[in-house]
Amino acid sequence: MNEMTKVSLSQWAYSDAAKAALARKPALFIGNEWVESSHGETIAVIDPSSGKEVSRFVDASDADVDRAVAAARTAFDDGRWSNLPPIVREGMMHKLADLIGQHADEFAELEAIDNGKPKGMAANIDIPGAIGMMHYMAGWASKLGGEMIEPMAIPRGLFHSYVRREPVGVAAQIVPWNFPLLMAILKIAPALAAGCTLILKPAEQTSLTALRLADLVAEAGFPAGVINIITGNGHTSGDRLVKHPDVDKVAFTGSTEIGKLINRNATDTLKRVTLELGGKSPVVVLPDVDVATAGPGAAGAIFFNSGQVCVAGSRLYAHRSIFDQLIEGMAGAAQFWAPRPSLDPEGHMGPLVSSEQFDRVMGYIDAGKKAGASVAIGGDAPSSDGGYYVNPTVLVDVKPDMSVVQEEIFGPVVVAQRFDDLDEVAREANNTCFGLGAGIWTRDIGAMHKLAAKIKAGTVWGNCHGVIDPALPFGGFKQSGLGREQARQGVEAYTELKSVIIQL
Ligand code: ADP
Repeated sequence: MNEMTKVSLSQWAYSDAAKAALARKPALFIGNEWVESSHGETIAVIDPSSGKEVSRFVDASDADVDRAVAAARTAFDDGRWSNLPPIVREGMMHKLADLIGQHADEFAELEAIDNGKPKGMAANIDIPGAIGMMHYMAGWASKLGGEMIEPMAIPRGLFHSYVRREPVGVAAQIVPWNFPLLMAILKIAPALAAGCTLILKPAEQTSLTALRLADLVAEAGFPAGVINIITGNGHTSGDRLVKHPDVDKVAFTGSTEIGKLINRNATDTLKRVTLELGGKSPVVVLPDVDVATAGPGAAGAIFFNSGQVCVAGSRLYAHRSIFDQLIEGMAGAAQFWAPRPSLDPEGHMGPLVSSEQFDRVMGYIDAGKKAGASVAIGGDAPSSDGGYYVNPTVLVDVKPDMSVVQEEIFGPVVVAQRFDDLDEVAREANNTCFGLGAGIWTRDIGAMHKLAAKIKAGTVWGNCHGVIDPALPFGGFKQSGLGREQARQGVEAYTELKSVIIQL
């Protein structure tokens, strides 16, 4: 049942707008200007659908990072952003969101070329998601405020006290490659709403849309130095940002391994840190479900974005009575997710982002097989002329201690297991170091709520998976992260509280 329909895996032609973006001269966006790097080092843009280099961008030097931090520091300290009327800041944020909307098609294509995701997915999910996030957060600029609290141990009437909510300062924001523009906006928007200035560093695999975004920053009216966008490798420019004494807050999304390293590196100067890290999210399917819905649901939970999603439903637990039927349902759905080049309009899943990621995912599939897992669906890579395609894969006959069950693969690979009762599945669902997301499929409302309470995860989905909303806090339990993004909590993470006590 793992025969995929054969389709051509040659990348489609780029539009003129995309070609123009790829032809741009490598530069960094600092203080509302495009500036050259101090050392001229560059990194290749590889289209994962073909494996070919299609452009280059700057690999920022230490001096470049320092320059960007200095621009953000000055812009924060002189109050050119935080002292603006909140409604003016809010307006600029809405303007930036609208400008992204005006270039939505180009952003979607660049995301497809850079990351490998289908352009249609980027157009329907990443770009509108980024715009929505910016509009939502813009509203907080004029809603955030302090509090007046009466003191309790000092005489009333003789003292006046209140709590101010102030921006934390300069934020260094480091994002991954799986949803490049969406992750960038998820970081930028709350910082701006809180009144911070920032330096954004996109991932070295996917910097195109962040650079295109920079073009729109000055047009939206942001004062120089409020939003700085620099590109470069993580262990060099990312590391320097994290350790920089003039940075007040680090916000990071990426692997748990690098998140822990960043947390350690930020400790010397006690920077505020928000971390959104890895996951190994369980999807639990109870016996009462309609398998015709849950099968494709479980498939979408893992194969969307080639499984390169922090909340990917990468551990499937299906009740013993429906396990075989569910796997059959997923095999049918796997046709829908058969990989295609990112600009193929018929595609729902693209290649993996890079050759490293391809090797990593194939390495996990091999390790699973060697440890005794069987391949129920996929398990291989279709032949192509250079792209990083992997077929949707379901592994069965797995044991809880196998690496494929415990570790984040970040590819279209799900491990499927049977269970008999709720307590057992809750225990197994919690049996990893992660706690980011979880899916529960059932119409049994009691079972749904009981399991939702038992599973240790920052987000639990019922009869759906991966639905994200800017108004709801997002983050991880255990080693999946620190702090929350989105919602009121996401903006507040960019603020400090100050108690003011005045003797009258
Ligand atoms: P992945 O393993 O999925 O590629 P990473 O966690 O390595 O994800 O990378 C996510 C982001 O973190 C990227 O922007 C990358 O450049 C950055 N990064 C990687 N290493 C470091 C580091 N030591 N310090 C700061 N940023 C880093």
